[in-house]
Amino acid sequence: MDKKDLILIEKLEKEHSLLLSEYEYLIENLTDDAIALLAEKAVSARKKVYKNHVYIRGLIEISNICKNDCYYCGIRRSNTACNRYRLTPDEILSCCRAGYELGFRTFVLQGGEDKYFSDDVVCDIVLKIKENHPDCAVTLSLGERSKESYQRLYDAGADRYLLRHETADDKHYGFLHPDEMSFKNRIACLKNLKEIGYQVGCGFMVGSPGQKAEHLAKDLKFIEEFKPDMCGIGPFVPHHATKFADEKTGSAKLTCALLSIIRLISPNILLPSTTALGTILADGRERGILAGANVVMPNLSPESVRKKYELYNNKISEGPEAAEQKDELVKRMKEIGYEVITDRGDIKKVVQKNVHTTQGKEKA
Ligand code: SAH
Repeated sequence: MDKKDLILIEKLEKEHSLLLSEYEYLIENLTDDAIALLAEKAVSARKKVYKNHVYIRGLIEISNICKNDCYYCGIRRSNTACNRYRLTPDEILSCCRAGYELGFRTFVLQGGEDKYFSDDVVCDIVLKIKENHPDCAVTLSLGERSKESYQRLYDAGADRYLLRHETADDKHYGFLHPDEMSFKNRIACLKNLKEIGYQVGCGFMVGSPGQKAEHLAKDLKFIEEFKPDMCGIGPFVPHHATKFADEKTGSAKLTCALLSIIRLISPNILLPSTTALGTILADGRERGILAGANVVMPNLSPESVRKKYELYNNKISEGPEAAEQKDELVKRMKEIGYEVITDRGDIKKVVQKNVHTTQGKEKA
């Protein structure tokens, strides 16, 4: 292995931080040995916090109607070939009921930016989920909204919010999105979510069109500084009805290496092994876990709509990706030495207790 790689990996493990130029060097010089070492260190860092536990989330794709036009995304508004659907609040609640029976204790409501899902509508859904299942966490992933809106959803009981930053480079963000969307607003949304008190998830696609090592280095620096509770990364996969239809699929190997690096930046982060990784490799889900991920998010949407939430070509929703096949997922995880955990699996806050300070405070 490149000697500098080794030094950087050891530094990352110890300090949870590298210089921007060091991240870039590491990404550009990822030998198989370096990737294996990163995975080994990532797994050991994760084991100290989460043992061999893997958390499951039931993903409910509530609508593929979207006012945005992100160039990479299959459900972008200008894709006229997309067969649109929207779940009713009752349908969403029955997905949760079915999920609860299957052992899910976190429900992730994800969708396009669909005007129908106003604050009133989403608040009502969140309140009812919490009323029906008080022991469950609700995660929302409904795109960009105002701070007031995020606050209302939080007050209604939403616990977590996933909003991938997509790329931490302003120019690259502009290359992936139309002019009416901005990197500035994306980041403002993430900061608002954090200020309100959500457990927040950011993330990005690996191998998105125009992406260079310097952009990935910025993504890693952003994660280091923003300190998200969760981070969703998966390979870019082209969608046939977008302008990036003929672009290359992102690399599973690089995705796994980045999962390991993110785990070393933040040992207690909740890191999903994503559907996109499972889509491009038959054992992608397992590879993600073995690289340092600790969350899987099977699809809990009604079966009739699963194929319609087509973010990219051939997105999987069957076998262990389907919530009702949870046993299959549990078996697959067991085969690689991991245990699927049923509790809601909040982020473990690693608090360094200073005994003297605490005792001092108690006396005072
Ligand atoms: N409207 C919500 C949900 C978007 S879909 C939001 O804005 O957060 C969830 C994620 O799917 C996106 O954040 C994006 O990173 C990913 N995605 C979209 N198109 C993709 C593609 N072609 N390949 C891989 N991932 C994609």
